[in-house]
Amino acid sequence: MSKEVIIIGTGLGGLATGLRLASRGYKITFVEKNEKPGGRLNQIKKDGFTFDIGPSFFSMPYEFEELVKDCGIDLPFEFTELDPLYTVNFSNSERKFYLYKDIKKLTQQFDDIEPGFEQKFRKYLKKCEALFNDTLDIVIKQNFDSKTDYLKALMKVNPVHISVLYKTFWKQAGKYFKSKEVRQIISLIAFFLGRTPFDTNAVYTLLSHIEFKHNGYYNVKGGMYKIVEGLVNELKKKNAIFHYNTEIVDFESNNNRLKYFTDNKGKKWQADTFIINADAAQFRNSVFKRKKFNDSKLNKMSWTMGYLTFYLGINVKLPQVEQHNYFLGSNYEEYSKGVIKNPGTLEKPYYYVNVLSKHNDDCAPDGHEALFFVCPVPNLLYKSNWNDKNIIVDSIIRDFSKRIKQDISESIVLRMEYTPEDWQNMFNLYAGAGLGLSHKMLQIGALRPKNYDEEFNNTFYVGSSTIPGAGLPMVIISSKLTTDRVLKYYCQ
Ligand SMILES: Cc1cc2nc3c(=O)[nH]c(=O)nc-3n(C[C@H](O)[C@H](O)[C@H](O)COP(=O)(O)OP(=O)(O)OC[C@H]3O[C@@H](n4cnc5c(N)ncnc54)[C@H](O)[C@@H]3O)c2cc1C
Repeated sequence: MSKEVIIIGTGLGGLATGLRLASRGYKITFVEKNEKPGGRLNQIKKDGFTFDIGPSFFSMPYEFEELVKDCGIDLPFEFTELDPLYTVNFSNSERKFYLYKDIKKLTQQFDDIEPGFEQKFRKYLKKCEALFNDTLDIVIKQNFDSKTDYLKALMKVNPVHISVLYKTFWKQAGKYFKSKEVRQIISLIAFFLGRTPFDTNAVYTLLSHIEFKHNGYYNVKGGMYKIVEGLVNELKKKNAIFHYNTEIVDFESNNNRLKYFTDNKGKKWQADTFIINADAAQFRNSVFKRKKFNDSKLNKMSWTMGYLTFYLGINVKLPQVEQHNYFLGSNYEEYSKGVIKNPGTLEKPYYYVNVLSKHNDDCAPDGHEALFFVCPVPNLLYKSNWNDKNIIVDSIIRDFSKRIKQDISESIVLRMEYTPEDWQNMFNLYAGAGLGLSHKMLQIGALRPKNYDEEFNNTFYVGSSTIPGAGLPMVIISSKLTTDRVLKYYCQ
């Protein structure tokens, strides 16, 4: 068997898997529906402005270091540590909270509203650390060949954590902190998983350990897209071939082997082995037409929320705003419980603002700023019509101007928006769910769409909607797990 591999999709999962295999002598060809690589880790460059369109920081940088070590190359981009991690602003208060990694400095922010904060926070983090250490290697970084294997792995997890499984993130935070603001700020990270603290299991408080203690968050010098440019460059050095504007729509098989894929122009793509980086559930539905993933089954799965993202170039500077900022309202519980299904929450939206030009001069012309807004919204299953996008964006711009005490509406020289419909159409994301399948307990580990195909033994999957899940470091881990499967297949 020759070592020819076709990878469908050039998201981070596809690129990282391609690099691992190319380093081992495999001949890699990428087929991507868009005109450039990166998938959701992408970029807009226009009129002198540069915007990251999706991911704006990442955790667990050592996963990238493991990737390049595995491929025998140097890291092809530079990252810098964030401290403070981000700021949090509430609508009913003038106060801005800075999320420092230094616990003493963090305590100064909270001591008046949560007496004894330092001691409580250290106790909370100790539990988060134990959850992280007791699950990472046993559950998160493992391939499972069957549900029984998965069950056996779960049984190895320290039983002291069992009670956590019956709680939500919000409830667990409430065990340690009384103040509403502290609970809200600590539990904000559940939104990073595409759900809310009220429907995210308390096991994911392990993310607080990653956030504050383990390693924190990182930015990439020059913007996140440098990751993609760097990896593509390394792949080209290893003779990988890239085909863009090519969408896979059909296939042909022979017994238990996939013979070839067909693209939207009728061209056939043949190889020994295929790796699908497109959404693992959606692809099984739309291309493989699998019963287990038919429309009604997909509709019943739990998907993450959608995102309304927009990108503004403005001709003034904003010295009062940091690079990463969260703007919350005064009804956290009511908002969080509604945001996934109820478009009514968009009357007073919560949002995140990234000022990429703050620390990257090249990302905006002199005297200008590049702003990127992310607003969590219902995905297309709960809000299919986005004709009101401009009304929502205008209201956020007004709210932001009020809160930073500077009207930016007259300073906007560039404005672009992506609704969940755009996200769906650009990257084939089911229902425009920004992070794909949710991480509820029945959709993780062996219960998530598998990274190997159920019918074709020469077909594998990588990325957010297979194991272990969404977010850049998880996708890098996914590339390792998929590579292990492919190597094992070639050894048989
Ligand atoms: C708004 C937003 C903000 C985010 N912020 C962060 C963050 O700050 N930090 C973080 O760690 N993560 C963040 N994420 C999550 C992160 O972007 C994803 O988990 C990760 O980029 C997914 O990579 P992937 O390789 O799994 O898939 P994708 O990036 O979706 O790549 C899949 C590729 O397959 C292509 N494709 C699909 N179907 C076909 C087909 N039929 N034929 C050919 N090609 C096809 C797509 O065009 C795409 O290029 C964010 C996501 C969003 C949407």
